Amino acid sequence: MTGPAGAAGRPRQVVLVGGGHAHVQVLAAHGARPFGDAALTLISREALTPYSGMLPGHVAGAYRRDAIHIDLARLAAATGVRLIAANVIGLDRANRLIWLEGAPPVAYDIASFNLGITPDLDAIAGARRHALPVKPIGGFLARLDRLIDAARRPDGPRRIAIVGAGAAGCELAFCLEHRLRAELAAAGHDPAALTVTLVSAGPPLPSLGAGIRRRVDAALARRGIGLRSGERVTRIDADGCALERGGTIAADAVILATGARAPSFLAATGLPLADDGSIRTRPTLQVVGDDDLFAVGDCARIDASPREKAGVFAVRQGPVLADNLRRRLAGERLAAFKPQSRFLVLLATGDGRAIGGRHGWPSIEGAWVWWWKDRIDRRFVDRFNRLPA
Ligand SMILES: Cc1cc2nc3c(=O)[nH]c(=O)nc-3n(C[C@H](O)[C@H](O)[C@H](O)COP(=O)(O)OP(=O)(O)OC[C@H]3O[C@@H](n4cnc5c(N)ncnc54)[C@H](O)[C@@H]3O)c2cc1C
Repeated sequence: MTGPAGAAGRPRQVVLVGGGHAHVQVLAAHGARPFGDAALTLISREALTPYSGMLPGHVAGAYRRDAIHIDLARLAAATGVRLIAANVIGLDRANRLIWLEGAPPVAYDIASFNLGITPDLDAIAGARRHALPVKPIGGFLARLDRLIDAARRPDGPRRIAIVGAGAAGCELAFCLEHRLRAELAAAGHDPAALTVTLVSAGPPLPSLGAGIRRRVDAALARRGIGLRSGERVTRIDADGCALERGGTIAADAVILATGARAPSFLAATGLPLADDGSIRTRPTLQVVGDDDLFAVGDCARIDASPREKAGVFAVRQGPVLADNLRRRLAGERLAAFKPQSRFLVLLATGDGRAIGGRHGWPSIEGAWVWWWKDRIDRRFVDRFNRLPA
């Protein structure tokens, strides 16, 4: 087996597309032990990449904005990787080029995609115009600021609906409720005027165990957060959401945390895609049918072991991806990534507590669970932000 040959006279080019949770680990691995003669490039839309595990805590007011971001410019500089801040819009596999918006294409010998996913704005009428999608997180944060500013006004938004009751939707419901009540009280308004409603076509947290679901239901009820499960939203407009079974949920702001899709530009690349638009891969994280392309995290699906979309997989794939990129460059046999079928979930409830669990374990809840989650998340981000310059 041999690795790809670079163009004569230049080092082989490894191009990492997207600054997701796996790619930041490839940079750290390269910083610790460079990838032989290869040059690494990271292309990312933003120079600061958010760590989604800490987003709910930030919404609740527990973290400053800089604490939930990994500084890619600093990380790239510290690890000897070239950073291009640009939006990727296409791939020319025949000529091994990655197309960028408003910038010349980038040549690759090996490329890897870690692009994440975003809620499908075309699945619900009006969503593109009226909803606040939770991803891309950068866009969500800008709109969150505007929502909080508006809520401080006497006639500001008081009725919030969150569509989608997976881990992201549930955490956001808890954390936004906590934050907005605090903001209303601080601005001298009645916090009791706030209503937060979680809307979902199926039951909340369908993929999690019964214990954790019971705790989440009880916490929602305790906090006065409405839950409308079994209700599919068909339209979003300036007044709220229309439901498939009839009726509406009145809302001044609708946040979209529904099932998401990989970036739409992938459809025109000729890459093999699954039904949800994610890139089909082999256990080695190589794209099906192409030894020099890799895909990881939410934008990828391993054919042999598909899993739900969760940050834990992108995090765990990082070291395997780094190792397999090295092996591919050296022409060695690649290792298989074996995704776990049970994993720990820790959900922030915004009030200094968290709920957690793992299939087969008793569920857990309390201030100590938040303390534990906070430690895990901070440690992950600090690994990249505290590298020596
Ligand atoms: C509120 C919330 C809470 C969550 N809580 C949990 C949790 O508790 N546990 C859990 O396991 N999961 C959780 N998740 C899910 C988790 O966010 C994702 O599974 C995780 O972020 C996926 O990581 P990733 O590396 O695949 O992609 P991402 O973290 O989304 O990174 C992708 C990167 O690629 C960049 N990018 C995308 N498109 C382009 C382009 N065209 N050009 C250039 N760059 C591009 C993006 O800007 C981004 O920086 C949560 C999600 C949300 C929204």
